[in-house]
Amino acid sequence: MTEVVLLRYGELFLKSDPVQRHFTSILVRNCAKALDSMGIAHRFEIHRGRILVHGEDPQGIAGAIGRVFGVVDASVARLTSPDLEEMTMAAVDLAKQSLREGMTFAVRARRQGVTGITSQEIGTLVGSAIQREMPFARVSLSEPDYEIHVEFRDFGGLVYDSRVNGPGGLPWGTQGRALSLLSGGIDSPVASWLMMKRGCEIVYVHFDGGKWAGSDVRSNVLENLRRLSLWTAGFPARLIEVRAEELYDSMEGRVEPRYRCILCKRFMIRAGCAIACREGVPALVTGENLGQVASQTLENLAVISGAATLPILRPLITYDKNEVITLARVIGTFEPRPGDVSCRAVPRMPATKAECDAVSRGERAIGIESLVREASSRTSEITALDGKLQGPG
Ligand code: ATP
Ligand code: MG
Repeated sequence: MTEVVLLRYGELFLKSDPVQRHFTSILVRNCAKALDSMGIAHRFEIHRGRILVHGEDPQGIAGAIGRVFGVVDASVARLTSPDLEEMTMAAVDLAKQSLREGMTFAVRARRQGVTGITSQEIGTLVGSAIQREMPFARVSLSEPDYEIHVEFRDFGGLVYDSRVNGPGGLPWGTQGRALSLLSGGIDSPVASWLMMKRGCEIVYVHFDGGKWAGSDVRSNVLENLRRLSLWTAGFPARLIEVRAEELYDSMEGRVEPRYRCILCKRFMIRAGCAIACREGVPALVTGENLGQVASQTLENLAVISGAATLPILRPLITYDKNEVITLARVIGTFEPRPGDVSCRAVPRMPATKAECDAVSRGERAIGIESLVREASSRTSEITALDGKLQGPG
């Protein structure tokens, strides 16, 4: 009997065999990178619907792959030969460590690739063996105090009683790349994370407002980048920084103050599309959220989208702020004291229904095209790897 980590992944069962093999190989690559980056030795064994990871530190392995996108959950399991008696003994032995006087228990059994016995019969067999050894324990299938899982498979028996939850989703890297507009706020890191969870690689872009931006904005952006990079351990996360001070300078006295937010967002979308094209990336991502702030009414979102030549993905569009904050805490990007992250260009009363004509007039007045060209051609870059910033900070 050895200890292994049993990794479960979701949704891939919907795919055809070749696609499943491809996705699985990417998932294994990502897990291997994460483990390598933490210096944890490992060996993978791939079976249908299950991946086993061998290594000297199963707890460490389960913890590390619990942060890999595509992983539904991971269990440290006892692996026996494909022999019912041996698997039953392993289950009794494991149950002994947790079952105490007065506790109820349930055996959850599965089988695959074996014939001559049903899952239910396996469950009864293992349950009876546990009761023989620990007569004080009672069975409760509906509300057990203790649950033990046994899987009888053609390659062996697996026994486990705990799980580390992973983020789920699709393996990161199976759904192409997107350019995410990253601010120092709460929403955009969550939006980026959700896209990564759905399999997308992310290139980040931040527009630096210079003197118009609060003094803590840039450090918060870098902190967001750093924390997000922990979710793709072993792979560098790139942030493209764009100087946008000129945009705000040029709006002063030329544009009605209430249109500044819309013009600013359209500028970011235009420059974002230009950078995305240069990077060969087919979509943008934002943390926009219907009705959250004045610039995010449906009318305004439509006007903002009108500046785009690529699709804008808005994974948070329907989220409540509380839902975003809960997720940000799980992700690790929530910052309760963000400092000065204000924008000095925000007017007292931003337009909630921007009119296209007024927007176009404003854009002509500031020479939007050359501002976008200038800004998107003079960018700098910084990367984060495993939670550490690299490059000019
Ligand atoms: P967040 O929405 O990320 O919490 P925020 O609330 O300060 O930040 P909003 O004004 O709500 O920003 O902007 C909506 C979206 O526009 C953000 O989620 C983000 O995707 C993008 N965005 C805003 N400011 C910037 C910026 N300076 N650089 C890059 N993207 C930005
Ligand atoms: Mg927001």
